[in-house]
Amino acid sequence: MTDKTLPPGLHRDTLAVRAALPPSQYGEHSEALYLTSGFVQPDAETAARRFASIGDGYTYGRTSNPTVTAFEQRLAALEGTEAAIGASTGMGAILLMGMGLLKAGDHVICSRSMFGSTINLFAKEFAKFGVQTSFVSQTDVAEWRAAVRPSTRLLFAETPTNPLTDVCDIRALADIAHDAGAVLAVDNCFCSPALQRPTELGADLVIHSGTKYLDGQGRVMAGAICGPARLIVDVFAPVVRTAGMTLAPFNAWVVLKGMETLGIRMQAQSANALAFARWLETHPRVSRVYYPGLASHPQHELAMRQQSGQGGAVVSFDVRGQDAQTARANAFHVIDSTRVVSIAANLGDTKTIITHPATTSHGRLSEDQRQAAGIGQGLIRVAVGLEHIEDIKADLLRGLDTLA
Ligand SMILES: *Cc1c(COP(=O)(O)O)cnc(C)c1O
Repeated sequence: MTDKTLPPGLHRDTLAVRAALPPSQYGEHSEALYLTSGFVQPDAETAARRFASIGDGYTYGRTSNPTVTAFEQRLAALEGTEAAIGASTGMGAILLMGMGLLKAGDHVICSRSMFGSTINLFAKEFAKFGVQTSFVSQTDVAEWRAAVRPSTRLLFAETPTNPLTDVCDIRALADIAHDAGAVLAVDNCFCSPALQRPTELGADLVIHSGTKYLDGQGRVMAGAICGPARLIVDVFAPVVRTAGMTLAPFNAWVVLKGMETLGIRMQAQSANALAFARWLETHPRVSRVYYPGLASHPQHELAMRQQSGQGGAVVSFDVRGQDAQTARANAFHVIDSTRVVSIAANLGDTKTIITHPATTSHGRLSEDQRQAAGIGQGLIRVAVGLEHIEDIKADLLRGLDTLA
């Protein structure tokens, strides 16, 4: 038989479609979906050995499953990390990271502009267990450094942020974390490994919501942590086995297949988003556009360096209005005038999604918190998909051109 193990040094595009477990004895071309909660052991001796360690054969679905392993291997190959571990959702992955790394008395530094549930998880849930979190500026590196304490164990950032696309300097934060003897984790949902690989810039861990661009078609929930084997295997895998935030095999399989088209989707959706953002900048009813691919973006150069020269697929913009109430009515008019794009709260889909952050994703914040985050009533976020760019523009123009 010829040797069919993958040679080293393959390009990421190749790994995105090829990295996986070897096929079963049937030689299936598309990776198999193993829907089983348990695994039959050949004998008691082998069973005893497998139950005593993780990663030596399969025992029970809460611990691991071959389809989940295939997903983990492909994602690790794309991020360029030694290993990865699946979790039930993106938030499940962040919970897993916290449970694995932190204990009572530990301190965390987080960007103030993180995903809303991430802020709640650290500020409310982990706080109950004696973990303290300082929330600092997304872009002011000095604020991160000043927040370091002897008990700081973890720095956690997300770039670009939702919905204003603020970009932080991953390498600078990695230096601060390592000087403090702490770990830097980066939530890489918005760029995905197709555009940004945080560990190449010094980050220790990468967090994913597989629900977003990795699946790319809005079908399932999934999450993962990518990083060195000593953390994934020795620290996080035992927590998954004990606590059960396990990734379902069906969801792992859907995202595994989604990753095969990740590279071309991100390229095409970023190109659509750039064209859309440039066009929005010229519209008289739009006062400001937030998109890292625009020269007007405050961290444009950093973003281009960090994100493979691409802005990603999320564009936000402010609709004009003389006060908050008018701005909100105008934003609602633009959103409600669309007939092609979807009004929804998620992102990372091939279908374009439009949302009003102030009343949806950020609706539970107080007006003061929203002001501090820069999320006004006229702000609209568009997660640009794969429809023809002229159809997306025309859909937005319906509302923009008919504002009172
Ligand atoms: C959606 C999202 C998450 C959470 O992922 P789920 O799969 O919804 O749990 C975390 N971080 C970012 C940046 C996200 O966009």
